[in-house]
Amino acid sequence: MNYNKVNNEVLSSLIGFIGLENVKTDGATLEKYSYDETPHGLRALPEVVLKPENTEQVSRILSLAEQNRIPVTFRGQGTGLSLGAVPTSGGMLVSFERMNRILEVDEDNLMAVVEAGVVLQDLRREVEKRGLFYPADPGERTSMVGGNVGTNAGGMNCVKYGKVRDYVLGLEAVLPSGKILNLGGKVVKRSTGYELIHLIIGSEGTLAAVTKVTLKLIKLPSLFITLYVPFNTLQGAIKSVSEILRDRITPTAIEFVERDVILETENRIGKKMPNHDSEAYLIIRLDGDNDSLLYDEGEKISGVCLRNGAVDVLVADTKESQNNIWDIRSAFYEGIVKNKDVEVIDTAVPRSKIPEFILEVKNISSRYGVRILCFGHAGDGNIHIHPQRNDLSVEEWSKKLPKIMEEVYRTSKAYGGTISGEHGIGLAKKKYLQIGLDEEQIRIMKEIKKIFDPNNILNPNKIFDIDDSTELVR
Ligand SMILES: Cc1cc2nc3c(=O)[nH]c(=O)nc-3n(C[C@H](O)[C@H](O)[C@H](O)COP(=O)(O)OP(=O)(O)OC[C@H]3O[C@@H](n4cnc5c(N)ncnc54)[C@H](O)[C@@H]3O)c2cc1C
Repeated sequence: MNYNKVNNEVLSSLIGFIGLENVKTDGATLEKYSYDETPHGLRALPEVVLKPENTEQVSRILSLAEQNRIPVTFRGQGTGLSLGAVPTSGGMLVSFERMNRILEVDEDNLMAVVEAGVVLQDLRREVEKRGLFYPADPGERTSMVGGNVGTNAGGMNCVKYGKVRDYVLGLEAVLPSGKILNLGGKVVKRSTGYELIHLIIGSEGTLAAVTKVTLKLIKLPSLFITLYVPFNTLQGAIKSVSEILRDRITPTAIEFVERDVILETENRIGKKMPNHDSEAYLIIRLDGDNDSLLYDEGEKISGVCLRNGAVDVLVADTKESQNNIWDIRSAFYEGIVKNKDVEVIDTAVPRSKIPEFILEVKNISSRYGVRILCFGHAGDGNIHIHPQRNDLSVEEWSKKLPKIMEEVYRTSKAYGGTISGEHGIGLAKKKYLQIGLDEEQIRIMKEIKKIFDPNNILNPNKIFDIDDSTELVR
């Protein structure tokens, strides 16, 4: 695909649209926006970084890019784990960091209207002051709402509350032509033609720029408790997950972790979990408004876990003790992934299949002689799988890793699962897309892309290539 460069004429138009101070071409800025959090991921410099302040400016930037056939990559906070925000085709990188206003918290309709660059933790803090809750909770709370919509982010609370998609009621989005779409709004239900909002959610910046989002809020639960449950066997921990759900208990979160992940995280961040001597752990959060109902559910969960070989069930009910556990949980990525030669695989399988799936992953680990550590959102079937290079030579690692990834994806598919539960495809998993989706589904997606973005300027070569230039694992 031939694209044009950002020349001086284009630069002066951009400066005219958004001001010299928001059009950056210096080396340090280009470098800063050249990567995301994908471990040992690719870096690629944009030609220019743009920081618009409002939708009108985004619209002018996009129509200029379209007229000049210049690729555009959108960026939230760059915490993505699939290289989605990496500007691999150069061109313009549009950062939403200045579009960070919470425009409205509508307490009558229980909704918030926010710009795409609002940081998740700021939104949560603002609504919680009013006794409201935005439960979509991807682990990285410095991520932005626009990025969360871009990836259809998930996180720990999906067991009870679902993904970002479940909270988006309205979107303002800009097409490459510069046209502004106003989709949905403050109505709770709608049955009026194709739901374009849901095409844009999870489209990883390939269909349109998301500039404003109307989000559903719920009442903030008044009580939270956390159970920290050590098990002597990994299978005991995993088996408990489907049994808890079968008992009709829906915790806010059920996270699974292996001991080595805890030990490495403790070393890295200097904090200690209440117990780190067992093979595997569940960390379970419950929320509600009724003390006795909540403790009753906690008792039932304890019963299930103890029947499956739990060593103990530790209950954290003060804010401080719960924060200690969840702070360490939030640091698992830092403990075992950041700055290491590790891959992050985020397959999701039906929850009843997790025990068999994990067993298969461990078999793959032994067959290839590669250590694979697991942790993640067991309650929604989305356990993150981390093959580690450790002592393998770079050559051995680069031969084994693609085979391991392929086997894990095929195993997930065989169990009725998907190749990405929440991080998206981006560039990192594009090669494997055809394991997850059949040809007809990919063909339809490509046709949709052509309607939204006929000149293929939006985040080209992410998710799939329009011209099939990458060889897919079939
Ligand atoms: C420690 C850690 C923990 C994490 N835990 C979770 C987790 O539990 N669950 C989860 O789902 N993810 C998790 N992630 C991944 C990441 O936080 C999410 O993918 C998040 O949604 C990315 O948001 P961002 O603002 O950083 O977006 P970016 O990484 O900047 O962008 C992500 C994608 O969205 C597109 N995009 C960004 N803004 C816009 C916009 N305004 N319009 C259109 N497209 C746009 C980009 O082009 C890109 O394709 C984690 C990451 C880290 C580092």
